Amino acid sequence: MALRKILDDNHSALRTPAQEVKKINSAVLRLLNDMLETMRDANGVGLAANQVGVPKRILVASNGEEEVYELINPHCENTEGEALGVEGCLSVPGCYGEVPRAEKIVVKALNREGKPVQLELEGLAARIIQHEMDHLEGILFIDKAVRMIDPEDLKSEEKS
Ligand code: ZN
Repeated sequence: MALRKILDDNHSALRTPAQEVKKINSAVLRLLNDMLETMRDANGVGLAANQVGVPKRILVASNGEEEVYELINPHCENTEGEALGVEGCLSVPGCYGEVPRAEKIVVKALNREGKPVQLELEGLAARIIQHEMDHLEGILFIDKAVRMIDPEDLKSEEKS
């Protein structure tokens, strides 16, 4: 495994919709491993392939230690409700904003074995996956944020 460089939002890869994965080969598996390692190294909760310069529809996410998601060609089947929550992004360092997202989602994708999986997610996991799926469309959370938050305010909110 190897760490990959996380691109920032000045890079055109972040603004280009990613392409469908046609074949899950060794390069895709290596990419998944590298993305997980890179995400953890950066203390992130999710990472999309185009954030490391690979224009493929692949994302990884981890909502804490127990739950790890590796999704290939993910798409949203159904959404329910709406919730506002604070997000940041490894590609937009130092910025935080409140973003409206669906409260619950049903996502279909392929896993690393190429088998179809269906996930029913809510709360933080649903938010993270929606954020990463947006990356695959070339969309950043700052496009959807209804309010940007000063990192200093965030710190005092977390403390209280
Ligand atoms: Zn992001």
